[in-house]
Order: sequence, then C-alpha cells, then structure tokens
Amino acid sequence: MPNQRTRLIAGNWKMNKTYSEGVTLAQDLAYKLSENTDGVEVVVCPPFTDLKGVQSVMEMDAAPFHLGAQNVYWQESGAYTGEISCDMLKNVGCTYCIVGHSERRDYFGETDQDINKKIKALLSAGIKPISCCGESLEVREANNQVAFVVNQIKEDFKDVTLKSGDDVVVAYEPIWAIGTGKTATPEDAQEVCGAIRETLRDIFGADIADGIRILYGGSAKPENIAGFLECEDVDGALVGGASLKADDFSLMVERSV
Ligand code: PEP
Repeated sequence: MPNQRTRLIAGNWKMNKTYSEGVTLAQDLAYKLSENTDGVEVVVCPPFTDLKGVQSVMEMDAAPFHLGAQNVYWQESGAYTGEISCDMLKNVGCTYCIVGHSERRDYFGETDQDINKKIKALLSAGIKPISCCGESLEVREANNQVAFVVNQIKEDFKDVTLKSGDDVVVAYEPIWAIGTGKTATPEDAQEVCGAIRETLRDIFGADIADGIRILYGGSAKPENIAGFLECEDVDGALVGGASLKADDFSLMVERSV
C-alpha cells in the first residue's frame, strides 16, 4: 500500500545568490511552480540575507513554496555574535530549517550534540527541522554506512519529543555524493533510509515515525529524481546545485507529483 506521506522537495541554495539574485530566482520559481505542485510540498532554503526578500516574493506572488533557513543557533538571544535565533527565523517567515548539514559538520565542527540542541530549539519555536545525516566515502567503503547513520539519528534525536511525524524531516545525504555528480543508487538510498525509518520507529513509535518524511540528497537532479522516489522510505529530495536553476528545480517538483 502506498504511504500517506506528502512528498517534499527542498532546495538548499547554500552560500549562493545575493539579495537581488535571490529575489529573481524566487520570482522565477513562483512562476514556474504555479501549476506543478499538486500534492508535493516545496521548500526553498536561501542564505540568511535573502530570507526577507524571498518572503516578500512569496507574499506578493502567492508562491507555492515554504521558506527554510540553512542553520540556526539554539539560544534565544544575547551575546552570540554572528548567530541567528529561531525567533529571528520565524519573524521572516521561516517554517523549516536545515540542521546538521555535512558542510556544517565538516567545516564548522558541528557535533551531534549541537544538532540535538538545534532540533529541540526549533521544535519549541514551531519550526520544522530538516535534520541531515550521512556517511563519508571512507565509512561507505568500509560498508559501515548503516551503523554510522543510525548512530547519528540516535544522537541527533536524543530526548526529542514529537507531537506528530510532520514535525520533523530527515535528509539522508551520503557525503561522497554531495556536489560531486556521483549519486547513490536508489538501492543505496533505500538501504539507509529504511534503517533510518526503523530507528525512528524505535525512538518515537511507529505511528509517529511512519509520518516522518525522509529525503535523499546528493547530486539529485531532474534525470534521477524518479528513481529515488520509487524507494519505499524516500519521500522526496534535498537538492543543492540543481535548486539554483529554476528550470531544473521546477522540473524535479513536476517529476515528483
Ligand atoms: C546538499 O548539499 O544538500 C546537496 C544535496 O547538494 P547537491 O544536490 O549539489 O549534491
């Protein structure tokens, strides 16, 4: 029986697009997606400096997507130079926020404990975390990907309480497939996403876990999205490079309907 989870396609713009470029991309997307999103939820995650501009486009053009940030700090306010709080994100219309992206883990030293605090802060603020996990090439070559990712999920969701499966999204992103053009096969994705689902069931119970969307991320593009969506435990994609082109991203949404 097909699952009841609404598919989700999220675009991570990373450190790309100035304010005006971001507004233009959001306008293009709003136009291209206007007829193509039936039954698919779409999220765009621009850099912090673009959030307000993209929110304005969403309001003016009734854009069929939600707004997400790429990071957050768990403290409410205060002397944390350079950081952004949940309240600040909420105030500019964010309903989603990526946490634990491998680039944050690798380049900025984020730990599972940090990610756990961010998830809890976002949930308290009513923002849905898109929590990323995934193994390095070294871990994959040693065939330890399942154990590695399961451990990340256990740490990232430690003592987290959910009211429903819709409160959070998990993105499985094998690091060796991010921005490299090398994709995992649908079988690779299902192996780990299936294990993630089982772990979520252990943590939250089946009723909640079966409602959590699990995305695949790593060189996803219009040509390969359909294969991933056929996997039982893959409910959409977290898209980097291809989300910067309105044509490609809207095609991916169209192919997810
Ligand atoms: C990402 O970094 O979240 C990502 C999936 O990037 P890309 O699609 O470019 O591999």
